[in-house]
Amino acid sequence: MRIAFFGVRGKVGAVLVAGLESQGHDVLDMRDIAPDDCDAAVDFTRPDAVDANVDRCLAARVPAVIGTTGFDVDALDARAKAAGVPCFHAPNFAYGAVLMMRFAEEAAKVFPQAEIVELHGEAKRDAPSGTAKATAARMGTDPIIHSVRLPGLVAHQEVIFGGPGETLTIRHDTTSREAFVPGVLLALGRVRDLPPGLTVGLDALL
Ligand code: NAP
Repeated sequence: MRIAFFGVRGKVGAVLVAGLESQGHDVLDMRDIAPDDCDAAVDFTRPDAVDANVDRCLAARVPAVIGTTGFDVDALDARAKAAGVPCFHAPNFAYGAVLMMRFAEEAAKVFPQAEIVELHGEAKRDAPSGTAKATAARMGTDPIIHSVRLPGLVAHQEVIFGGPGETLTIRHDTTSREAFVPGVLLALGRVRDLPPGLTVGLDALL
């Protein structure tokens, strides 16, 4: 595939570009050219850049896979629907994080009292993380979310459930950004077959 990439020099972008190219994809830096002739686009940039980037893709009718977090999901869904273009966003492209969210949803049915601790590197701009917000929404019990930003961290989350005489902790650790490559490849393979608008969450593709 010919892939328009926004954020090629970012911490995640650099790892993804290597991963996509190793699978034979042609990756183009969207800071230099327009997405017009591309099969799909990928955006791993920053919350205040993603809207303009995706709008360029919608104008060129190029489906976009969005990894950037902290943007207005409903507004982007409306614009993609109006343009008739399928887009996909996962707050977390790591398969283990998707399973963590699924298990937390299950545990919340038994343990209504829980809190989420999400930990990321100090450069992460949004808080709470998109993964923590998505986990809380799926649990449906309005858990308190604690955000930690420190050097040395990549992306980690604990969901701690408390009941009489016991606790249950579900934890996921992303130790390398390579964890996002399989999920992004899956989304790129499927995005063009999705309905117009923004499909959210890797669960929808697994
Ligand atoms: P990062 O290292 O700061 O990289 C962001 C990159 O985007 C930088 O290279 C920056 O270039 C570039 N950029 C900024 N504005 C741009 C624009 N308008 N057009 C094209 N490129 C632009 O951040 P990161 O750690 O890679 O994370 C990027 C985003 O992905 C964040 O929102 C993060 O929360 C999210 N994320 C999502 C997942 C997931 O699974 N969904 C996983 C990890 C991270 P300059 O430095 O030259 O400005």
